[in-house]
Amino acid sequence: MAEKLTDIFGIDVFDEKTMIERLPKKTFAALKKTIENSEDLDPQIAEVVANAMKDWAIERGATHYTHWFQPMTGVTAEKHDSFISPAPEGQIIMEFSGKELIKGEPDASSFPSGGLRATFEARGYTAWDCTSPAFLKEDAAGVTLCIPTAFCSYTGEALDKKTPLLRSMEAISKQAVRICRLFGHNDVTSVSVSVGPEQEYFIVDREKYLKREDLVFSGRTLFGAMPPKGQELDDHYFGSIQERIAAFMKEINIELWKLGVLCKTQHNEAAPAQHELAPIYSTANIATDHNQLVMDTMKKVAKRHGLACLLHEKPFAGVNGSGKHDNWSLVTNTGKNLLDPGKTPHENIQFLLILSAVLEAVDTHADLLRLSASNPGNDHRLGADEAPPAIISVYLGEQLEDVLSQLIETGEATSSKQGERLKTGVHTIPEFRKDATDRNRTSPFAFTGNKFEFRMVGSSMSIADANITLNTIVADVFEQMADKLEKADDFDQAVHDLIKETVTKHQRIVFNGNGYSEEWVEEAARRGLPNLPSMVAAVPSLVTDKSIQLFAKHKVFTEVELRSRAEILYESYSKAINIEAKTMMEMANRLFIPAVIKFTTTLAGSINAVKAAVPTADVSVQTELLTQTSSLLAEAKAALTKLTNAVEKAATITNGEEQAIYFRDAVFTAMAELRTPIDKLETMVDKEYWPVPTYGDLLFEV
Ligand code: ADP
Ligand code: MG
Repeated sequence: MAEKLTDIFGIDVFDEKTMIERLPKKTFAALKKTIENSEDLDPQIAEVVANAMKDWAIERGATHYTHWFQPMTGVTAEKHDSFISPAPEGQIIMEFSGKELIKGEPDASSFPSGGLRATFEARGYTAWDCTSPAFLKEDAAGVTLCIPTAFCSYTGEALDKKTPLLRSMEAISKQAVRICRLFGHNDVTSVSVSVGPEQEYFIVDREKYLKREDLVFSGRTLFGAMPPKGQELDDHYFGSIQERIAAFMKEINIELWKLGVLCKTQHNEAAPAQHELAPIYSTANIATDHNQLVMDTMKKVAKRHGLACLLHEKPFAGVNGSGKHDNWSLVTNTGKNLLDPGKTPHENIQFLLILSAVLEAVDTHADLLRLSASNPGNDHRLGADEAPPAIISVYLGEQLEDVLSQLIETGEATSSKQGERLKTGVHTIPEFRKDATDRNRTSPFAFTGNKFEFRMVGSSMSIADANITLNTIVADVFEQMADKLEKADDFDQAVHDLIKETVTKHQRIVFNGNGYSEEWVEEAARRGLPNLPSMVAAVPSLVTDKSIQLFAKHKVFTEVELRSRAEILYESYSKAINIEAKTMMEMANRLFIPAVIKFTTTLAGSINAVKAAVPTADVSVQTELLTQTSSLLAEAKAALTKLTNAVEKAATITNGEEQAIYFRDAVFTAMAELRTPIDKLETMVDKEYWPVPTYGDLLFEV
């Protein structure tokens, strides 16, 4: 297997090795220069690359190519074109020009644009992103050459998640280089962002999945009573992986390895039927593309195994939901990780400056970070017990916190706490040195050794928004720091003062305690940290003056782009809740209410029959059950009417923000009111009558 793995890894990718084999030396060198230095691409180079790419793809069985892009739906889009071109005598030739590689022109009027593009101006362009390698996708359609692209409007506004991500990577590189130069690292010419996203997901049996309209239409269960067992035994977390799941994981790995995704870790997660996959980190842009491939491949492979992969943030109430930890660090072109504190962080001034910059960035723009992890599904997690709270804080760990408090208190950090040796009390177990710092699972933004781990991102979300935000807010602080320090007469003193001033000013964002506790919510309020409890509450932070200036200054988003994105967020929230509400109405009307009516009719029949047979017989059990279920049925029907009215009213609201607020406050609340009596009925009605698989069936019988 080990040998085979090296054979298959990346075989479906037009990667550097393939390019070296297939491109003239000069072309390859020019392309590499473009990639590494973010330089303009020469059209003539594109012509040569296109031809080599086409030959390679056709040899591997490809008939079509597609510009693969990431519109603001959060998922990927593709439109396939075949390579064929007519030739004399009714023949065809296979063609693919540099122009076709560089530019596509999908009719883009049906993608969300938040008012950026009137529907009559349907033109949108996809543009080749040569920094993310092209790859082959094989499915029932055959083999397709997929070219990662950015997606923009006729007037150049970004209509996707990739364009601003690439812009933000340029922004942070530019400012981080200035910081490195201040410390005499003149060989640093660029700084790239490394990202490793850990992906959580649920797997359920496909046949059962298809019997649940709520899972099919909305990705989560909208009804469902908790079975007698949940996750309280902690017996699933890291438990041995059962055969059917193992077979699925094996195939996922193979498919993704072929696509060059560095799948590394897999394990069972906390909730029953929940699992995780983590690749080894790569450049932010590629990590974002790869994470899309991971999600796509998971769904596809699950289907082949008679399974369904649920990427929703909260598929089941009562057990943990799924997130995506976005591990983030900065690496210079000379290979140094700028977030590596070394053994003695108190002496590592460059690290301390960068650390203090991250603290300032996160404190100043906590609202934006929170927004970057917001979607309708994540509203069920953030602030609930299992996941990071909705309040942003930074966990630094004992060692760094100690260094910072020395700095704040005495103006000088003179020591770093070191990890002790781990003693198990068993002689045959080798001793080793522990990390200087333990972990904190409850922190939304934790320093974990040589990277920050942003833990709020939702499992179904693109990681682009989180990284766009992180890159830009940190770039902004780097810029201010570099502006100041480049002018300093006494650099050593100036940098010392700046670190002290920054950590003192922003220490309120540091919190090492239990982020799930009620006390923290109160403490955070005292510290003045924002607590944005829902997605709808977080959207306005995108269009504050602070945000508009920030993103414009670093050329990541124009004001117009930001406003359109806010519109899209409101719209997507309203649409998601509308689908959920309508699915609930349909399930209640056509499944649950009829089932309960059947059940109560049987009960009533039984009462009559028993009484007729034995007039003195005790029918109190049937009668009580009939009374209770009938009363819950009436409650459900009243809630259903209320929900139906709320959904109708929501449709009449034309302002995007107002509509989203109404969906959250009226529709979402009415949904919960309908769920309660139905879930109670589920526990009382004869299982034979219950029209859908239950939580027990879904979670424990994969
Ligand atoms: P966990 O947090 O679950 O213990 P790891 O510490 O192994 O997992 O890391 C999780 C993810 O972080 C992986 O994708 C890993 O490649 C990534 N990672 C590790 N080091 C870095 C780094 N310096 N920058 C960005 N991501 C990193
Ligand atoms: Mg982690």
